[in-house]
Amino acid sequence: MTFRATVLTLYPEMFPGSLGHSLAGKAMEAGTWSLEAVQIRDFATDRHRTVDDTPAGGGAGMVMRADVLARALDAASPPGDARPRLLMSPRGKPLTQARVRALAAGPGAVILCGRFEGIDQRLIDARELEEVSIGDFILSGGEPAAIVLLDAVVRLLPGVMGNEASGSEESFEGGLLEHPHYTRPAEFEGRAIPEVLTSGNHAKIARWRHEQAEALTAQRRPDLLAAAQRQK
Ligand code: SAH
Repeated sequence: MTFRATVLTLYPEMFPGSLGHSLAGKAMEAGTWSLEAVQIRDFATDRHRTVDDTPAGGGAGMVMRADVLARALDAASPPGDARPRLLMSPRGKPLTQARVRALAAGPGAVILCGRFEGIDQRLIDARELEEVSIGDFILSGGEPAAIVLLDAVVRLLPGVMGNEASGSEESFEGGLLEHPHYTRPAEFEGRAIPEVLTSGNHAKIARWRHEQAEALTAQRRPDLLAAAQRQK
């Protein structure tokens, strides 16, 4: 089954961008997933192909129009399309690995990228869009956020990652940040690789890695550690 992504944007030329390279690019070539970038402006009806207007109530910036966006969305995702409809938005629920995993298990996603001050609330309500944030900061547009989301999803699609195990041992998958990594040379600027890693004792190595992961998580993300312990 192909994971089908449709992105609605004022800048379709920003896609596939980084998604056309490396793992995601190869997976796209192999037909594991597909990406269609739809130009929202094509659904404007006036001579100037207007997609935005001044905010009701006044204030700075422009707001994307509900009617134009609805036409674009309905054309890209007609009734019966089972794919979730997402709106990239700093007001959204922060994206998590759990949501990424759920999306990767589904048929695809329809993703609306905002620009300007944002989009008319009535469109969000009428089309029941799921607002998704990629973090507590403001981007100039939803496109990089959509690329981030799709990158995270595509690498989880079946067959995309060479070594399946590397997906399940990563940061967040076990509720912890990942342990540190080392490779040759054995010594770098006077720093040696931790002895345990060259001991050949796999049980000891696993224990060391787990301890490192816990210590790192406690230090950097105590919120994650607390959540992981609640789940136990
Ligand atoms: N005025 C808005 C910000 C608009 S930024 C506010 O204060 O909430 C313009 C567009 O960039 C948004 O519509 C959204 O699509 C995208 N965007 C900005 N920051 C984002 C984030 N952290 N996560 C996801 N999308 C974001």
